[in-house]
Amino acid sequence: MPTALSTAPLSFEFFPPNTPAGSDKLLGVVGELARLRPDFFSVTYGAGGSTREKTLATVRAIASAGHEAAPHLSCVGATRESISETLQTYRMQGIDRLVALRGDLPSGTAVSGDFRFASDLVAFIRESQGADWHIEVAAYPEYHPQQRYARQDIEHFAAKMKAGANSAITQFFFNPDAYFHFLEEAGKLGVNAPIVPGIMPIHNFSRIAQFAQRDGIEIPRWVALKMEGFLDDAASVREFGLEVVTRLCERLLNGGAPGLHFYTLNQSGLTLEVCRRLGRS
Ligand code: FAD
Repeated sequence: MPTALSTAPLSFEFFPPNTPAGSDKLLGVVGELARLRPDFFSVTYGAGGSTREKTLATVRAIASAGHEAAPHLSCVGATRESISETLQTYRMQGIDRLVALRGDLPSGTAVSGDFRFASDLVAFIRESQGADWHIEVAAYPEYHPQQRYARQDIEHFAAKMKAGANSAITQFFFNPDAYFHFLEEAGKLGVNAPIVPGIMPIHNFSRIAQFAQRDGIEIPRWVALKMEGFLDDAASVREFGLEVVTRLCERLLNGGAPGLHFYTLNQSGLTLEVCRRLGRS
């Protein structure tokens, strides 16, 4: 009998490759992950629009291979004209889903442009383009690292949803209680749209620990100590990482999460294995 684990909607995130060889490899990864029938593949946008052309090329390649592709689009430093132009280009490729973000400027770059927050971008798209874009936004179950007060962060999130977002994808996390609490708090502010957990398979523990440190994400002490104890025993790191992430996904889906969004880091192996262990192949 199908269960929440075996039927959950899936999506997979990539970053735009830097080389032609990387692009060819990514299409192979897309083909492998497509077997799981995801709702869409998303492609990130470099800080301050630094990968604009590569994001477009990657999205175009995924769409040409017959899959639904969703570009990420950040607004910090952008003008209304540049955003309209980018949206027009995507529309001409038949793209109608995007992940709308504020983004962060590369360090040392002065802030300018027509938008301050992702909610401004969402409102602009709805006002200027109408209802037919499916707009995803970012959510932070452990709160956004630049926000001092949890209450304000969740209120800003609710305002972003009310500006016209259809659904949200979260930052990665390892503590399911943080996610369920975030859902509850968002619900109290009238947010009933899907908030899909972002899942980070553990490819390289020290790199993930660095991301977590930078972005204010808690890695449970028992996970960190055990991982550190494996030293360079890659097989044990892989197996324990799979166990932790699969168990997290099980708890999330059994608790009512509306799907899973995987940060694949352009690799299929661990994501496929987690999905297989969830009964999805
Ligand atoms: P916002 O929702 O605008 O929030 C940013 C901060 O501003 C928060 O602290 C919020 O509390 C505060 N804020 C919001 N509204 C107000 C207001 N009215 N008054 C005062 N403060 C306010 N980055 C990229 O560069 N490229 C990507 O492709 C990318 N993809 C991502 C995908 C996902 C799923 C996630 C979770 C993040 C992604 N990021 C990406 C990172 C993101 O750009 C950064 O976390 C950025 O710092 C915040 O973007 P946001 O859209 O969440 O911003």
